[in-house]
Amino acid sequence: MKFSLVADTLGYMESTTKRLELTQHLVDLFKKTPPEIIPKVVYLLQGKLRPDHEGVEVGVAEKIAVRALSKSTGIPVTKIEREYKKVGDFGQATATILEQKMQTTFLKEDITVERVYDTLFKIAELKGNRSQDMKMKYISSLLNDSSPIEGRFIAKIITANLRLGIADYTILDALSIAFTGSKENRPLLEHAYNVCSDLGKVSESVSKEGIESLKHFQVSVFSPVRPMLAERVKSPQEAREKMGNQFAAEYKLDGERVQIHIEKDRVVLYSRSLENITSYYPDIVEKITKSIKSSRIILEAEAVAINEDTGEFLPFQELMHRRRKYNIAKAVQEYPITVNFFDVMFIDGKSCLDMTYSERRRILESVVVEDAFARIMPMTIVRTDDEVEDFLENAINSGCEGLMLKQLDSPYRAGARASNWLKLKREYRNELGDSLDLVVIGAFYGRGRRTGRYGALLLSAYDEDSDSYPSVCKVGTGFTDESLDQFYQILSDKIVVKKDPRVDSGLEADVWFEPEVVIEIVASEITLSPIHKVAQDKIRKGSGLALRFPKFTGKIRFEKTPENATSVNEIITMYNNQKKVIQSEKQF
Ligand code: ATP
Repeated sequence: MKFSLVADTLGYMESTTKRLELTQHLVDLFKKTPPEIIPKVVYLLQGKLRPDHEGVEVGVAEKIAVRALSKSTGIPVTKIEREYKKVGDFGQATATILEQKMQTTFLKEDITVERVYDTLFKIAELKGNRSQDMKMKYISSLLNDSSPIEGRFIAKIITANLRLGIADYTILDALSIAFTGSKENRPLLEHAYNVCSDLGKVSESVSKEGIESLKHFQVSVFSPVRPMLAERVKSPQEAREKMGNQFAAEYKLDGERVQIHIEKDRVVLYSRSLENITSYYPDIVEKITKSIKSSRIILEAEAVAINEDTGEFLPFQELMHRRRKYNIAKAVQEYPITVNFFDVMFIDGKSCLDMTYSERRRILESVVVEDAFARIMPMTIVRTDDEVEDFLENAINSGCEGLMLKQLDSPYRAGARASNWLKLKREYRNELGDSLDLVVIGAFYGRGRRTGRYGALLLSAYDEDSDSYPSVCKVGTGFTDESLDQFYQILSDKIVVKKDPRVDSGLEADVWFEPEVVIEIVASEITLSPIHKVAQDKIRKGSGLALRFPKFTGKIRFEKTPENATSVNEIITMYNNQKKVIQSEKQF
């Protein structure tokens, strides 16, 4: 299959943000794609070669890509660098350079999807000293046969810059329409995806064997399951309205969610966004099998930093020290953790997802051998508001964020945020209540003490319906000197010359970013806004929603992807809840 079909589709998609149009372009492409190539096309569309959790990355430094382009076109490196600086986007610069070359040569052969994919895969596998030269050779040979638009997207993929906003859900919609004739079947595709977290696998199955094949998707060890998420509640009463008179209350620890897959001696750990994080926790890998009485199991736990002398839980930020490539052994010693199990998804060949919470908890209690390192999450069954309050008090005194409330007869709903799990946090009791996780989309240069760094950041929520990032506030408080430096450094990699088409704001930032970095914010209130675009026209014509008095909490949510950020629908719910509170206060 010609790669130009994929490149043309990516080109059309770049010029629209309308979800229906995006989906239709994908449907047209999928219909033209032979089933055996479908997974490759699906991965390439998202700038990937395999699902994220497999950690296969093309990762070519821009310098090498520039040299490769020079080699294949004969145009000097300096000229390419100048063009790149001018347009600010390596993909676009590659296309322009290839256009110049085309005026002097003829195109040779059509490049195929298979060739592009296989070459990129070879590049991803190259390691060691001589790998740079080999990478350059592979790239220049591909670019040699590429048209400008093909070259543009190859360049974007190899430098990990393919961000077109093709969300998983848009791809699932398009697969459903292309291979089952309607969007109605999307829940079945979604189920399969939630269980295996691999869009390539789902696409292959539905394109080759049809919709029935999706029903047979099963949980398996070393394929991470998309995590179940919780809704917020503000009070025990609200929880009771949603869950009835008896439910489980667990401590809500403030650490990192870890999905632990074990088969015999092999242990693999996945983060909340299903990245492979095994290398950050060698202590879990070393100790865990001794604590678990099953040799084939998938468990969920919260890894929490502790003070070994006092047994006190330490805040989430302490786990940041584990996010390093070198000297991890030192970090393990200096920042010890405990692993606190709260769920089981699979045991001895059987999925536990359809079991009730009570059954899963029973298995958990029978399979975990507790010690100072491995623990079962403290839990109690609660029947009254007072019991919830008491347990919340205990939890907070032990250093927790609050409680997780779970319905006793509910299954594990992979990938869903549903009212079978509720979170009740300490801060829900005042002001807005919960914190929000927002995506940094822009920044404003600082003045005075902040000169040379960013003085304020422009933040957005994630709009699941349109797959976009509407702005919701500008934040300039809560930063320390250290965090300002850190932001300047982290964000410098994400700068884009042209605002991403998915980003929408009434403010003009000094600098725009790829929507990637997620940070935690607290605020006092949600108000209508003529500037910010969250829920634009949904509450009132001509207005969006904005946060009042936003403040950075100090937490960069490195374990969250932008699609995991607080969604527009969640903000609308928070706004409506806040309205209810104001109305009920007015009645007194
Ligand atoms: P999301 O709800 O999207 O996960 P979040 O990470 O901001 O967003 P939190 O408010 O932190 O959500 O609550 C959910 C997180 O709480 C889980 O992802 C998990 O890391 C953590 N957690 C701590 N204790 C528990 C528990 N007992 N059961 C489930 N999750 C827990």
